[in-house]
Amino acid sequence: MGRRRRSAIGTVIRMFILALVIAVAWQVYEDWHDSRTGDIVQMTTIRYSYEQMENDINKLRRAYPKLISVEVPATSPDGRGLYLLHVGNMQADNHVLIQASMHAREYVNTQICMKQIEMLCRNAGTAGRHGWTGAALLDKVCFHIFPMNNPDGVAICQQGPDAVRNSSLRAILDDCCQREAGGDPDYWKKWKANARGVDLNSNFDARWDTFTSGSSLPSSQKYKGEAPASEPEVQVLLKTAEKYRVCFVLSYHTAGGLIYWNYASGSALETEKELCSLLSSLTGYYADTISTPCGCSNYFGEVKNIPSLTIEMVAGRGGEDYPLGDEVLAPAWEAAAGILPELAFYFSNLPEK
Ligand SMILES: [Zn+2]
Repeated sequence: MGRRRRSAIGTVIRMFILALVIAVAWQVYEDWHDSRTGDIVQMTTIRYSYEQMENDINKLRRAYPKLISVEVPATSPDGRGLYLLHVGNMQADNHVLIQASMHAREYVNTQICMKQIEMLCRNAGTAGRHGWTGAALLDKVCFHIFPMNNPDGVAICQQGPDAVRNSSLRAILDDCCQREAGGDPDYWKKWKANARGVDLNSNFDARWDTFTSGSSLPSSQKYKGEAPASEPEVQVLLKTAEKYRVCFVLSYHTAGGLIYWNYASGSALETEKELCSLLSSLTGYYADTISTPCGCSNYFGEVKNIPSLTIEMVAGRGGEDYPLGDEVLAPAWEAAAGILPELAFYFSNLPEK
C-alpha cells in the first residue's frame, strides 16, 4: 500500500515536471518563431487591449534583451502600470520621448507603436535607407516610449465602465454617462479621458488657465482637471522627459493624417520644422499648425522649448469617427513604418553612408 502510494506520487511528480518542461520549451519556441517572422504584435484586428500589450511587451523583452528594457515608473488611477519601454542605448547622447493613446479611443496607436518597436528591433541587423544598421543607430539614440499612456481610458473605451475596479472612479464615470449621454451604452466607445474624467491632453501646464472652452466637470473629453499636471499619466511624462533630458517629443493621436508643429521657438523651432517636413514626406501626411492650449506638445514646445510634434494617424477619417475599424490598420502602418528608423538616423548625427 505504502509503496504503491509512493510510486503514484512519483508518477504525478514526473508528469508535472514533464508538463513544465514542455511548457517552457513551447514558450521558447514561440518566442523564437514570433521574433523570426516579425509576428509578435498582431496587425489584423484593431481591438488591442492593455493585456495584449503587456503580453507583447514581455515577448519583445525576451526576443530583444540587448535593445529593449522595460520599466513601470507609475500607475494609473485604477492601478494599471504605465509601461515605459527604453529602446536603444540608455547612455546615448540623444533621447526621444514618444507617447501613444493619451486619448483613450485612439488606441490604434498603441498597436502601431508596439509594431514600430518590434520592427525596429527585428531589422536592427540590416542596413536601412541611410546605409546604417538599426543597431548602429540605436547605439547613438535612445527612444523612451509609453505605448499606452492612458490604459484606464483604453479599458473603458473597449469594455465599458465595468473595466474600472475602483468604485469611486466608477461613480465618476456613471455620472459622466448620465449627464452627457443619458446613460447611452455606446457613450464609452468615444471615451477620450482617463478614469477620473480628465482629458490628459488638456492637463498640461501650458496656458492652462486660458483654456475655458472645455467641460467644467469630469467628462469623456475636454475637462482639463483641477490643476495643471494633476494626473499621474501626465506627471510620468514630465518626469521621464526631465530624467533623460529628451531632445524631441512625439505624440501619437488620431485621426486625419496630419502633423501639427510650431510649438517651440528659436533653433528648437527650426528642428521641429525640419522634423515635421521629414515625417510629412515619409508618411504622406500634411503639416499643419494649431493653437489650442494645455496639450502635451504645447507644454514641451512652448514651455520647455523642446521640439515637439503631434501626429494624427489614420488619414481620411474625421475627429468623431469612432470606433475605428480593422481596415484602417494597414494604411496606418504603411504610413508609420518608417518613422522610428528615420528618427533614429536623424538623432544619431551620423553622416549618410
Ligand atoms: Zn487625440
